[in-house]
Amino acid sequence: AGSFHLQVRVAGIGRGRILILAEDRTAAKRVEDMRRDFIANVSHELKTPVGAISLLAETVEAGADDPAHVRDYAGRMRKEAKRLGVLVQEIIELSRLQEGDALAEPEDVEIDEVIAEALDRVRVEAESSQVELVSGGRRGLRVRGDAALVTTAVRNLLDNAIRYSEPRTRVSVGVGLDPADSDLVRIAVVDQGIGIPKADQERVFERFYRVDKARSRATGGTGLGLSIVKHVAADHGGTVELWSAPGRGSTFTLVLPRLRPQGEAAQVPEAAQ
Ligand code: ADP
Repeated sequence: AGSFHLQVRVAGIGRGRILILAEDRTAAKRVEDMRRDFIANVSHELKTPVGAISLLAETVEAGADDPAHVRDYAGRMRKEAKRLGVLVQEIIELSRLQEGDALAEPEDVEIDEVIAEALDRVRVEAESSQVELVSGGRRGLRVRGDAALVTTAVRNLLDNAIRYSEPRTRVSVGVGLDPADSDLVRIAVVDQGIGIPKADQERVFERFYRVDKARSRATGGTGLGLSIVKHVAADHGGTVELWSAPGRGSTFTLVLPRLRPQGEAAQVPEAAQ
């Protein structure tokens, strides 16, 4: 059963009357709890790479003299530092999104440009993981919002698709209109990777939730990528859909309200004709 948090205060007394204000604080309390959890998680997540870097540095200081070992430690320090950098950037991004002022000045966003930019940013990753990147679908679609944020969302989905795939598999991004509602743009990122068990599918959008912590960490994951995607979608009035089966792959679809070209009349959905 949900709890109910009522705040009652005497707001004024005068001329033989007492004004009492009762306010439902349930929602406010929930926000407070979430913020407290978030801060606890953030400090835990930040401590891990910082601890690892300190330990590695101490080991070198204590006199690791084999150059091969020193190089190995330096490489691991660089990897942890990189993860720390991504983590800090994502925490900032997420708090901006949660403040809700991320979309203060919406603009027309060209989906073609978003996809091209997101693909550019993950190309090196895909090459070193030997994952083939392909894209296709309808061109010229637009949404209203923040191009940088939509690009970040698509990039996070591509990053994950590559991260949780085996070499010599394919990751594709496809753009189209929703067959049942031509006012919705669908951007689908499809992989042939490890997939996500049914029981975890709801939870992967939570901050810092990972199905396999070791694999996420080893590949530079922060556990924040999908919660950022979810917030970007919500801020644009859209949603994220997930289909996945372990061993068969995953499809994450960003669904956003379409910005219609000027003068174009609403179409009757094909399904209704
Ligand atoms: P991370 O930085 O760990 O990838 P995300 O928030 O992006 O964090 O994703 C949360 C978790 O969801 C991941 O740790 C992983 O277990 C799972 N996941 C996300 N995308 C995929 C995918 N394409 N294939 C398999 N598992 C995925």
